[in-house]
Amino acid sequence: MMDTNEIIEQTRMCAACPKLCRHVCPTFLAWRSDSPTPHGRALLIYQQLKGIREIDERGVEVIYQCLECSNCLTYCLPEIDIATIVEQFRKSLVSEKRFPERLNFLRRSIEKDYNPFDEPHSKRREWVGRTPLSNGRVLYFVGCTASYREKTIARDTVSVLSDLGLNVRLMSDERCCGSPLFRTGFADDALRLAKSNVKEINNMDIDEIVVTCPGCYRVLTQDYPDHGLVIEKPVKHITQLLMEHKEGLPKSSSRITITYHDPCHLGRHSGIYEEPREIIRYVSGNDVAEMLRNRENAMCCGNGAGLRTLFKEGARAIANERIKQAVQTGAQYLVTSCPFCKNMLDSQADDKIMVLDLPEFLRRIMK
Ligand code: SF4
Ligand code: SF4
Repeated sequence: MMDTNEIIEQTRMCAACPKLCRHVCPTFLAWRSDSPTPHGRALLIYQQLKGIREIDERGVEVIYQCLECSNCLTYCLPEIDIATIVEQFRKSLVSEKRFPERLNFLRRSIEKDYNPFDEPHSKRREWVGRTPLSNGRVLYFVGCTASYREKTIARDTVSVLSDLGLNVRLMSDERCCGSPLFRTGFADDALRLAKSNVKEINNMDIDEIVVTCPGCYRVLTQDYPDHGLVIEKPVKHITQLLMEHKEGLPKSSSRITITYHDPCHLGRHSGIYEEPREIIRYVSGNDVAEMLRNRENAMCCGNGAGLRTLFKEGARAIANERIKQAVQTGAQYLVTSCPFCKNMLDSQADDKIMVLDLPEFLRRIMK
C-alpha cells in the first residue's frame, strides 16, 4: 500500500510526462480522449490529493474507466504503477460514497448470492450434473464466470484433468473470490468472502488447488496473503498444472493456426506467459501465431476491473480491436486461458475467429 505522499509524488511525475504510454492504453483507444489515459487519471488524482481541484462526477467516471490492465507500466520508464494508484484511489472514493451507482448492483449481487451475475447461489454447481466431484486430491476453485457463464470451461477442465489422472473435487460452499470487489475499491466487502473461502479450503484434505480464472489466481495468491489470509496448499493456475503433466496431453495431427491472448491477471500481474504457449505448441505441433501485441504488451480484452459492467460500449470497442488483432494473424483459433477474457472476446468475434479457453481447446484436440 502506497502512502499519500508517494502517490502525490508519482502522479506529479506522471502528470508532467509527455504521455509516453498513451498509445497502449485501451481506454484511450475506446474513448479517443485525453482524460481516460494514464496521464489524465494521474492529473485528476494529483489535483484531488493536493487540494487543487475537487474531483467531479466526470472525474470519478474516468477513474472507473481504467481496466487496471497495467499495460501503461510496460512503457513507463519511471515505473509509475497507475493501476495500483487507481485501485487505491477507488478505495477512497468508496469510503466517501462517490462511486458509480451501477457498482451497487454488483455489490448487492455478491453480498446476497456470492457472484456478480445476479444468479442464485444454489445454481453455482449446476454445471456439474450428477457427478459428485467430492473425493479428488485436487481442489478446483471454479470461479463465478466458469460456474455461471462459461460452464463448458468448467466441464472441460474436469475432463482434461481426469484424463491426466488428476481427480478434482469442489468446495461445498465456494463463493466469489472477491476480485470484482478488490479491483473496484471494495476491499472490506471482498475480505468477508476471502475469509469464508480460505477457512473452507484450509479445512479440506487436499494436495493442491487449481484455478482456471486468472482473476481468482491473482486474488488467491496475492490479495489474500496481502491481507494476512494464507491458503496452506499450493495454488496453481491450470496452465501451470498442465505443464507439470504435459507428456500426458494428446497431440493433434491436423494443421491449425492458433493465436493466443494473454490475460492481464495471468501475464502482466502474475508473470505467466510461456506455459500456455508451450502447451499449445506441444498439443498442436505449431508455434503460436503471435499477435503484434503479445506477452508484456498484450492488449486487455476490455473486461477488466468492472469496465464491462460500467461502460459496456467502451468494453466492446476494446474487445473488437483485440479480435481484429487476432484475425490479422490468420489464425483459425484464438485461445486464451481466462474464462472472463474468453467470454468478452467471444461476444465480439461473430464468425471471424473461433474463441476458446485452453481446456476447451484441449478437449477439441482430443476429439
Ligand atoms: S504512466 Fe509513465 S509513461 Fe505513462 S504518462 Fe505516466 S509517467 Fe508517462
Ligand atoms: S492500467 Fe490499463 S486502462 Fe488503466 S491507465 Fe494503464 S493502460 Fe490505461
